[in-house]
Amino acid sequence: MGTISNRISELGTENAFVVLNEVKQMQARGIEVLNFCIGQPDFCTPENICNAAKAAIDACKHGYTPSNGIPELRKAAAGMFSETRNVAVAPEDVVIACGGKPFIWYSIYALTDHGQGDEVIYPNPGFPIYQSMIKGLGAVPVPLYLRESNHLNFTVDDLRKAISPRTRMLILNSPHNPTGSVLSRSELEAIAEICIENDIWVYSDEVYSRISFDAPFESIASVPGMLERTVMVDCASKTYSMTGWRVGYMANRKLAPHITRLVTNSDSCAPYISQEAVVEAMTGDQTDIENMVARYKRRRDVFIDGFKEIPGIQCHKPGGAIYIWPNITEACKITGCRDSEEFRRRLLEEHHVACLADIHFGPRVPGEGQHVRFSCASAAVEIREGLERINAFIRKHM
Ligand code: PLP
Repeated sequence: MGTISNRISELGTENAFVVLNEVKQMQARGIEVLNFCIGQPDFCTPENICNAAKAAIDACKHGYTPSNGIPELRKAAAGMFSETRNVAVAPEDVVIACGGKPFIWYSIYALTDHGQGDEVIYPNPGFPIYQSMIKGLGAVPVPLYLRESNHLNFTVDDLRKAISPRTRMLILNSPHNPTGSVLSRSELEAIAEICIENDIWVYSDEVYSRISFDAPFESIASVPGMLERTVMVDCASKTYSMTGWRVGYMANRKLAPHITRLVTNSDSCAPYISQEAVVEAMTGDQTDIENMVARYKRRRDVFIDGFKEIPGIQCHKPGGAIYIWPNITEACKITGCRDSEEFRRRLLEEHHVACLADIHFGPRVPGEGQHVRFSCASAAVEIREGLERINAFIRKHM
């Protein structure tokens, strides 16, 4: 019997899929679960985009494409990056891949050396794949804590303390999963100054760039001196409600040829049909996209207003993305839950409301209490019903 490598055990996972499985099992038993656990847009992909895919099928666009993507999509993505980030990106700086996620490992692979003590700083709480891939690729994960006292961002002081001579890369994610926090222009400028001073790459995970509610989206790449050291990443998944189509795009001139080689070595290319569809998504009518963002904003407001009425819950208003990150420390005390995970489990089992716990996004931040994450990928009517059930759960114990 062959052995399994030691390094595979370093890989983590995304627990949203584990909880989703629990939900699916309950639903199979006939239980009506309100599911707020996954960041999967509940909208169908807009019709014009689907039609572009159908046209691609009819035109026999069924084969491999260049590993860095079809020229039309790289041109459209370069235009989109340039216009929305106020930077100059050329089509040859762009690589297309199978979603936003692969760029995380491609970039860590290209910018750190295995087992050499190279450090990557990443936000905690944060998208669990950051820590998983840093460890999996033999680099050293250095968490940067997000704090409520700093609007669920890290402080520049904390960043300075996290940097060492081994730091190779800083991962930023604004708007942020799971907190919905957004880095302001002045914060980005302060971070940029530190990265330039210490010669650090930035992986800027901008997959929620279009879902920014209260201020226009800002990328660190637009701070002078940052474009060349920023791996700017966005994807079709959330923006156009295309999670299953698997298309993402990155821009960085120096890194593009290396990332292209990684695509050749892994997926060969992103699906041709999906790439054709994303050209239409980027260049076609934007009305459906604007409507989706407006609905996410309304849903955010329903959650925030609802939580104000529920004892034991306090919640920052997220500036973007599709998540709500309430502090439930008091709610845990009222309900007799040991921690956020027990709260999440009992809410699911006793009241059939599914969410994720903070521990699904990295170790709890010391002194920050207990949190859970709700996704806004459900209709407002379901959110209201969910809020009623959460209210009932907590008040039952008062
Ligand atoms: N980055 C962040 C912060 C995410 O939240 C997600 C998905 O939830 C991704 C990347 C992955 O996006 P994709 O589905 O396009 O691979």
